[in-house]
Amino acid sequence: LAPLQAHSEQTYIMVKPDGVQRGLVGEIISRFEKKGFTLKGLQMCICDKAKAEEHYRDLEGKPFFPNLVDYICSGPVVCMVWEGTDVVKAGRNLIGVTNPTDAAPGTIRGDFGVEVGRNLVHGSDSVENGEREISLWFGGTDTVEWEPTMTPWIK
Ligand code: ADP
Ligand code: MG
Repeated sequence: LAPLQAHSEQTYIMVKPDGVQRGLVGEIISRFEKKGFTLKGLQMCICDKAKAEEHYRDLEGKPFFPNLVDYICSGPVVCMVWEGTDVVKAGRNLIGVTNPTDAAPGTIRGDFGVEVGRNLVHGSDSVENGEREISLWFGGTDTVEWEPTMTPWIK
């Protein structure tokens, strides 16, 4: 076999409060697992205003910014680090475009969302922003170094 074209990177994926409250955490994790990515960090929290503002600092000044911060802080979120080849871009493809109305069927937003202000899940838009977001939400700790093995777990 030709060698894999692997170039591994990490992304920050977060199930937003509506995704948690609608019971879609497992569904969202499952889509990333089935695609072939590796879960490296997982944590649940309720976000405070300062952290939400820092996370979305590039959008400060947008008319929807205050509502966005309220939305992210409105209930528990599930924070994740996923690793794999092109996971930043591929993760955004799994999620779908920002407005769920425009998101293709088969994507998370396309299958489960109808409102841009309640679009279920966040995914980093670049490797650099992924690194920034991972250190914001995981504080450089609480991620796990491991690789899936070919160990025969079942026969
Ligand atoms: P994405 O999450 O797809 O990267 P953006 O970074 O542009 O999208 O926006 C961040 C989040 O802000 C979106 O996921 C959505 O929750 C919210 N948002 C974006 N545009 C709007 C809008 N026009 N009205 C309300 N909320 C919005
Ligand atoms: Mg974004």
